[in-house]
Amino acid sequence: MQNLEAFKTLISSPKKVVITTHHKPDADALGSSLGLAGYLKKKGHDVAVITPTDYPNFLAWMKGNDEVIIFNEGNEDKSEGLVNNADMIFCLDFSSLNRINELGEMVRNTECTKVLIDHHLEPEDFADFIYWSTGAAATAELVYDLIVDLGDKNLIDKDIAESLYAGIMTDTGSFKHPNTTRNVFMVCAELTTLGADTAKVSKLVYDTNSLDKVKFLGFALNEKLKVLEDYNTAYFAISAEELKRFNSKTGDTEGLVNYALSIEGIKFAAVIIDRTESVKMSFRSIGDFSVNEFAKKHFEGGGHKNAAGGKSDTTLEETVNKFESVLKEYKSELSTKIKTYA
Ligand code: 5GP
Ligand code: MN
Repeated sequence: MQNLEAFKTLISSPKKVVITTHHKPDADALGSSLGLAGYLKKKGHDVAVITPTDYPNFLAWMKGNDEVIIFNEGNEDKSEGLVNNADMIFCLDFSSLNRINELGEMVRNTECTKVLIDHHLEPEDFADFIYWSTGAAATAELVYDLIVDLGDKNLIDKDIAESLYAGIMTDTGSFKHPNTTRNVFMVCAELTTLGADTAKVSKLVYDTNSLDKVKFLGFALNEKLKVLEDYNTAYFAISAEELKRFNSKTGDTEGLVNYALSIEGIKFAAVIIDRTESVKMSFRSIGDFSVNEFAKKHFEGGGHKNAAGGKSDTTLEETVNKFESVLKEYKSELSTKIKTYA
């Protein structure tokens, strides 16, 4: 952070703080938010965490989960009051205000100190303090580094350490993606020293599936996976009826895209899901193909080079047709063989 001393002075006296994170928070969004909330509470601040929407149950173990205010579950007025009365608003794990739905304009229009902590590409210019790096694997890693920069490492307790660890673990795909840097290992080593039970976190995040979720996975792998060999691309398209049939809950489709990406030779993977209000898409790639650019250009989205998301306001079928048709633009890029490690 450029003006770290000014920031340090600002947080040295009690403030009314709001922390918010992106639509459908994942482990990094929620873990970085609750980790930061735990720290700021210890510093004597009055902290509220507001999420635009709900999030998966497998994140509910995080300390502070019980106090999270879910904006679109009847908390619109309460959230607006908190945003308008805040001295400081922290925006975590997103780079543009449209990622927090109606909350975005409330945050934009209120006069208070705004802080952006994030690792997505192309941050919007709205914050007074920015702690941002696309070199960070996770926002949780940045929250850890910021607390250390502020000289407060000793305030990171077991609960904070576990929330932060969860964010780093998931955003690196369990330390598999190329964003798994030396700093990631160093931070995680420190988090274990500070009390994080890493086996517990991974069990709670990955191995608490409902039977419905596992059966849905089987169905999707057997019947919904489509491979476009000429494009080294694989995708799933899931209808609203199929989600309903498997009693799908928030988070039940998370990770599905990785099965498509795990097929040997596949460079580009997508999951296209009819969420009724719109069709949501998750994109992943291996190597130089930028899914951030792809999502931004064709599906009103963005994210990172190798992991991004987007949406479409047409039907599932029309979205799938558009997806297959725009792929043609990338044929030469996608059809070349993937570099292997062998
Ligand atoms: P996921 O596919 O797991 O939902 O998202 C992958 C990455 O892309 C995450 O870093 C997420 O924050 C980002 N992302 C997902 N959907 C969108 C979107 O609609 N717009 C933008 N800008 N980023 C997105
Ligand atoms: Mn993240």
